[in-house]
Amino acid sequence: MSNLRFKAVEDAFKKKAVEVAAPAPLTSDYYGKYVFNKTQWAKYLPKEIVKALTGVIEKGETLNRDLADHVAAGMKTWALEQGATHYTHWFQPLTEGTAEKHDSFIEYGGAPGSPVIEEFSGKLLAQQEPDASSFPSGGIRNTFEARGYTAWDPSSPAFIVGDTLCIPTVFISYTGEALDYKTPLLKALNAVDKAATEVCHYFDPSVKKVFSYLGWEQEYFLVDDGLYATRPDLVLTGRTLLGHESAKNQQLEDHYFGSIPTRVQSYMKDIEFEGYKYGIPLKTRHNEVAPNQFELAPIFGETNLAVDQNLLIMSIMKKVARRHGFRLLLHEKPFAGINGSGKHNNWSLGTDTGVGLLTPGKTAEENLQFITFVVNILLAVYKHNALLKASIMTAQNAHRLGANEAPPAIISVFLGSQVSAVLDKLEASTSEQAIVMDPKKGMSLGIAKIPEVLLDNTDRNRTSPFAFTGNRFEFRAVGSSANCSSAMIALNAIVAAQLLEFKSTVDKKIASGIAKEKAIFDVLKQYIKESKPIRFDGNGYSDEWKAEAKKRGLDDETSVPIIYDAYTTPQSIALFESIGVFSERELHARNEVKWETYTKKIQIEARVLGDLVLNHIIPTATKYQSALLDNVYKLHQVYDKEKAAELSAQDTGIIEEIAERISLIKYRVEALVEARKVANKIEDERAKAIAYRDKVLPYFEEIRYQVDKLELIVDDELWTLPKYRELLFIR
Ligand code: ADP
Ligand code: MG
Repeated sequence: MSNLRFKAVEDAFKKKAVEVAAPAPLTSDYYGKYVFNKTQWAKYLPKEIVKALTGVIEKGETLNRDLADHVAAGMKTWALEQGATHYTHWFQPLTEGTAEKHDSFIEYGGAPGSPVIEEFSGKLLAQQEPDASSFPSGGIRNTFEARGYTAWDPSSPAFIVGDTLCIPTVFISYTGEALDYKTPLLKALNAVDKAATEVCHYFDPSVKKVFSYLGWEQEYFLVDDGLYATRPDLVLTGRTLLGHESAKNQQLEDHYFGSIPTRVQSYMKDIEFEGYKYGIPLKTRHNEVAPNQFELAPIFGETNLAVDQNLLIMSIMKKVARRHGFRLLLHEKPFAGINGSGKHNNWSLGTDTGVGLLTPGKTAEENLQFITFVVNILLAVYKHNALLKASIMTAQNAHRLGANEAPPAIISVFLGSQVSAVLDKLEASTSEQAIVMDPKKGMSLGIAKIPEVLLDNTDRNRTSPFAFTGNRFEFRAVGSSANCSSAMIALNAIVAAQLLEFKSTVDKKIASGIAKEKAIFDVLKQYIKESKPIRFDGNGYSDEWKAEAKKRGLDDETSVPIIYDAYTTPQSIALFESIGVFSERELHARNEVKWETYTKKIQIEARVLGDLVLNHIIPTATKYQSALLDNVYKLHQVYDKEKAAELSAQDTGIIEEIAERISLIKYRVEALVEARKVANKIEDERAKAIAYRDKVLPYFEEIRYQVDKLELIVDDELWTLPKYRELLFIR
């Protein structure tokens, strides 16, 4: 088996960059060519249909059958011209990634047996009924009612992958509960649109719609595919369960923004070419901090579409990696001891009139609007910090959060000195003073001066999980493999609810005769005071912060299964129900799914770890031990007892160390298996997940510690698993 490792290393070294050619000289020449977008509508749909479809999308309505038929007809013509033979409803179940079931366009033209024709009706476009029984539902969909249905989300355009027309859809149980991420996301986006539009009317009555924007930054690792194939832990769990850290890893910080290795560069180009064909506006690519870690980011866009594009690009990245002899690792923590991967969610709100609500403005009005949104977001994040954390928490992401990297496991908001100063000033001022506005100079607080300073990006804090970065908030705690929806549902929902509350409080004051500006200032001042505990501009990794955060009453729970409880507190249930994003039943059901997923992840890892130890590590260590024993034996044949003992002292030391470590490992693997058996008997999903975390998971580290020590002493020639230095530095 170690031969396999050396063969893989040798092959990896020989690999050359794959040549990739741009599909056309200019990106704009082929951008979006696989997407049924507005340009295609104009070509394939009658004018009135385009108008009706646009209206439906803008109002967030569902299609009527007649409109669906017309759209389907145009879509079919386009798809057939592109060489598509199949179609699928493309949806986002509560597993990782997306799901699709392909159907061919063919139907009998008449009676069964008559010649086939290509058929695609509005009915097929608008709704399907896939068997939902094998998707997680947390008990909502009993197996006797296995049907669920998918329905087109017209705000996300259809696209073609290979020979298949993919139609982005929601996925709902027959009784109407969401079984996916898209349904609640659309509801949350709708809620934030409604609430924010109302608040905007204080400042600009012409605003008709508020968009939620998302710009994700996707981090990932690449590993040579030959090396990957010889690491069963990577293949089966997406992360290395064993492996001593490499003598060199990220200490020199020479990888970050360094020159991109040629094989990787050509991979990146390839993803960009593919991404552009799908209208994904990929903008940035660079090396990340850890060796073999990279990042990719598009220009931000409307949240629903940005989520779909992220899912699509993750699947493209996986496929394209194979062409380049790589495997893509989207796991949040593929390697111990070096940085893991996140997916920063840059988020903002903007109006249909083109105003960024988190962008400091030029006029006093715009700045008051800006402050209004920032302060409401602060308070929302403060009230629901536990929920926000729950929205990004998974078994994988737990390895990142709270470890000494990336965001800590406590949610706080970094505002930067400029915005902090404005809020402090506002809080300290009397309303009379604060509401004085000079149309030329802005407010008396000097708020009109913010823009220049803010856009200077030097005021940054990398340790904050939720940071203001000039014209947006950056939610950094999201995991690299996650569906951004989970975080975006929670964030947009809490902000929607908060804005509604703000509006009703201000309206009451206005109704009681207080002037609008003063009413707004009064409420904002109170919110600034109330939300203070969430503001933290210091080092989020420090122990002092942990202690301080506890004092402030911020959620500091670190147990993943318990963190999920934040979804079903009376406060969260009231929040989600009040804005119609989740019913209580859905919240409970989704938590069941989360606990089950958590358990399964650790269960699989535990099995893989057991196998690796018994089939790779112990046999290899024993083989080496026996070679050493052989040497000791021979020394005793040649030399007298005393001399032989002296010459073999080193060997006998290692022989004993190996024996000792193997026995510790065996003992712990047995204990791990026992702990798993006990946990498996627990019926309650939450209790089971907790048992997996508290009773099973702790053995991982103990076993790994011993194995990694063995890796250091066993002859490299015999070691079967590619080592960290090989996985991380060969590209
Ligand atoms: P960083 O400097 O944090 O690495 P980048 O400049 O690469 O960030 O941008 C990160 C992402 O933030 C990009 O997708 C970018 O389009 C997005 N972004 C920029 N402005 C906004 C905004 N107002 N709202 C949402 N996303 C934004
Ligand atoms: Mg960023």
